[in-house]
Amino acid sequence: MLNTLNQLSFDNRFVRELPADPTADNYRRQVTGACYSFVQPTPVRSPQLICAATEVADLINLDHAELKTDLFSQIFSGNKILSGMQPHACCYGGHQFGNWAGQLGDGRAINLGEIKNAQGEYWTLQLKGAGPTPYSRTADGLAVLRSSVREFLCSEAMHHLGVPTTRALSLVLTGEQVRRDMFYDGNPQLEPGAVVCRVAQSFTRFGNFEILSARNDIDVLKQLTNFTIQTDFPHLICSNETITRETYVKWFEEICIRTAKMIAHWMRVGFVHGVMNTDNMSILGLTIDYGPYGWLEGYDPDWTPNTTDAQGRRYRFINQPQVALWNLAQLGNAIYPLVDAVEPLQECLNAYRRTYAEQWQADMANKLGLKDFIEGDAQLIENLYGTLQLTETDMTIFFRLLANVDAQVPLPIKDSELIDVVRLAYYTEPSADTVSAMARWLRDYVIRLQSDFVLYGETHDRRKARMNSHNPKYVLRNYMAQQAIDKATLGDFTEVERLLQLLRNPYDDQPEYDIYFAKRPEWARTKAGCSMLSCSS
Ligand code: AMP
Ligand code: MG
Repeated sequence: MLNTLNQLSFDNRFVRELPADPTADNYRRQVTGACYSFVQPTPVRSPQLICAATEVADLINLDHAELKTDLFSQIFSGNKILSGMQPHACCYGGHQFGNWAGQLGDGRAINLGEIKNAQGEYWTLQLKGAGPTPYSRTADGLAVLRSSVREFLCSEAMHHLGVPTTRALSLVLTGEQVRRDMFYDGNPQLEPGAVVCRVAQSFTRFGNFEILSARNDIDVLKQLTNFTIQTDFPHLICSNETITRETYVKWFEEICIRTAKMIAHWMRVGFVHGVMNTDNMSILGLTIDYGPYGWLEGYDPDWTPNTTDAQGRRYRFINQPQVALWNLAQLGNAIYPLVDAVEPLQECLNAYRRTYAEQWQADMANKLGLKDFIEGDAQLIENLYGTLQLTETDMTIFFRLLANVDAQVPLPIKDSELIDVVRLAYYTEPSADTVSAMARWLRDYVIRLQSDFVLYGETHDRRKARMNSHNPKYVLRNYMAQQAIDKATLGDFTEVERLLQLLRNPYDDQPEYDIYFAKRPEWARTKAGCSMLSCSS
């Protein structure tokens, strides 16, 4: 059954069951003894819908016809509150770039409430950029168009890639101007303001637990943990059983496993989050908070798009698995008072390591079109990644082209001919060394493929189909998002819609969209927003 906006019904478990900040006024403060504060979105001048994702409307059983209405833009810019909504901002802390930062909280995110859909699933609606909250610290609570377009499109792109993520229902212009110093260099500019409505089973982060533990508020820590287990991890509680220390350990183990799987996906598709602070880590193992993220174009394991992290490169591509483990260790420390023993928590961190290693091997086998990951494959992969760095090679294009390698190719072929199959992935003419190294690698690869053909009767078409279902053809390259932003800034929203459509089927050949199966153009290498991003959003 489909609902109109006015028919949406809310069942706000988080608000109902967890302690609220007793102060109702909206001023910046430390909030103790509570999980959230009630706060109203700030009204805006003239909301205008840029784009809405129909699949996300489906999650909340909302009739698609409603997306085009004025009421929809009014609600999802924060101007109107539906009956049953209880707008609130959550209290959390976090480790930022390795240091404890104390209270952070939803500084510009406002949860509207939880919808229970026809399948009995709960979905929380959250506005990002809807004005200040008690957690806004020195900032304005707003979001600009460029970062909102990036969040909206990437949330949906990640979902369609099969990566666990928060979703995005809508992207609305507010009609207001927001002042931002994009590169923190003393050049603030006015930019159009926008609001994204994010949707997830919950937006709870590692930091929601960390802040309570840091303040030694063990009562509320326990309440929030029990609530989280009951609502989002009910399978961990056997019927009639109460929540025990063992339940907390099983819960932490599941968070470790989910996080490992999420990170393995990022590494598979070449995604760099950019700001893996513990306040940006979802307790459900969802990718959350799309800020200065990026996609590897030339394969460079040390790349990060985030200029704010340019010095230490803590959050560079290759570091992500290690950082997630460090973040999990912080969460483990935070819930230690509930478990009161170190060893079981450490065992969970081992489960992270194990799961990540297994998942990485399975993903790599699929990326290369191998039936299984066997002895010797680790070396083959290491050689590949070494070779990819000799001359700048586009990761997405390379793996897509690799599916075209013919396992029956007669190997006494010239090096330069052998590498023709992947030549399009190079940003510049490959050097002689690159040609011979890549040809050497391709010969090893072909021999490896042949063993699967002999042992399992593997066929070219089956292998290619498997590879193509794990190596996306289209990802949201930064320059693509930037082109959509540039057009949207001029009032033309067609490119946002077009990219949303393209990214719905990232693994399929879509001939009508083949201009997007292309390397980053040269102009984008140094353009702001295309290769360099800051946290200013
Ligand atoms: P982020 O780096 O975007 O994850 O943000 C870190 C913290 O700063 C979170 O508590 C955010 O809610 C808060 N924050 C970021 N941008 C703003 C803003 N424009 N206004 C208020 N708070 C913000
Ligand atoms: Mg954040």
